[in-house]
Amino acid sequence: MLPNSVVGLSRFFEAENVQSLEIVLKLTERCNIECTYCYYFFGGDESYKTRAPTFSKKNVDHLVSFLERCIADGVTNIRVVLHGGEPLLLKKDRFSEICERLTSIQGIDLALSIQTNAMLIDDDWIAIFSKYNIFVGVSIDGPEDYNDLYRIDKQGKGTYQRVVKGIDKLLDANKDGLIQKPGVISVINPDFEASVIYEHLTKHLDLSNLHFLYPDDTYSTTSEDKLKSIQKYSDELLNSWASDTALSAKVRFIDNYIKRIQSTPFSRDLHQSYASLRSVIITVDSNGDIGPEDTLRSIIPDAFGDGLNIKDATISDITSNAKLMDAWLGMNSIPSECGDCEWKSVCRGGDLKNRYDEESGSFNNKSIYCTTIKSNLESIAATLYRNGMPIEQIEKNVQCYSSS
Ligand code: SF4
Repeated sequence: MLPNSVVGLSRFFEAENVQSLEIVLKLTERCNIECTYCYYFFGGDESYKTRAPTFSKKNVDHLVSFLERCIADGVTNIRVVLHGGEPLLLKKDRFSEICERLTSIQGIDLALSIQTNAMLIDDDWIAIFSKYNIFVGVSIDGPEDYNDLYRIDKQGKGTYQRVVKGIDKLLDANKDGLIQKPGVISVINPDFEASVIYEHLTKHLDLSNLHFLYPDDTYSTTSEDKLKSIQKYSDELLNSWASDTALSAKVRFIDNYIKRIQSTPFSRDLHQSYASLRSVIITVDSNGDIGPEDTLRSIIPDAFGDGLNIKDATISDITSNAKLMDAWLGMNSIPSECGDCEWKSVCRGGDLKNRYDEESGSFNNKSIYCTTIKSNLESIAATLYRNGMPIEQIEKNVQCYSSS
């Protein structure tokens, strides 16, 4: 259900306007470990059991043809996130062949990245990442006692030591100039100390590109107590980052908020409301079915495989599919409930999945993490002020340019 404010924008969302495409590519739909909070295997949607464990050779042909049709229709930038399950469960020769086929496509700017638990990384994988310039993101939740509470293998054993071996290999390869420095994704857990995690990732593991994910909760799956604990975690994380005098680490949500507060309303809102409608994010399952952003899978399972498959779909089919369109425009619109919020142009309502209310079946609500987001934005604005950004400029910048 779309807020009125974006209905007018939908006219931009037409096939001929789409310039960039991000594909979350399910190379495997199985994993070598069993993280207890995994949205994919334990989020309630079990449709993966009906699909092939790995992306078939025939589907590689279909994917290449699909991308060539997209390019013929005007797409110029393609980012493929090699995803799973655990994508490194694919045999190396098959994995390399897919990268070779993708990077041989003419006429596009192609970027490859991978999200992995890093446990299978060896010298051969490093050589593949290096050859195809693949940016590697690793999932780890902090020090061993934190990580191993939830990130466990099929025998119930912790995975930390094996993950860290993989991270060390990646960092060595980066020092040798073979690959980019790896990034890391950690799921926020209100039972943990954010300062301990920040310290561990940056000082102990020497990682500097950090991304913290809010739990995939909605209005019906969260609670007041959980939200309060998450706010405490988030405030503590911000404090850790702000007091890290080396300023060696980049935390994605902090970095994004800083950039948005530093942008003029015109440039920020133009980018959000117009340029973002020139790019599309889709998920491609192992059977070639096309769906919206992967984390929406347990919330709107019907939108996945809604008659669209890479064997014959075009960009025009994607932009005229009502379920994909709803998800994408929802992601790029400000919920009506945020209408009076002074931060709405910077926050834009939070992540789509965290706006979902099962009772109304609508995404047109402020994020369940609204209070935390506001608190974070106030702290970041205060930090910018202390570092010399005039208060008038901050106030002017956080305004909306448009009325949406
Ligand atoms: S801070 Fe809250 S009310 Fe403001 S835009 Fe974000 S989610 Fe909406």
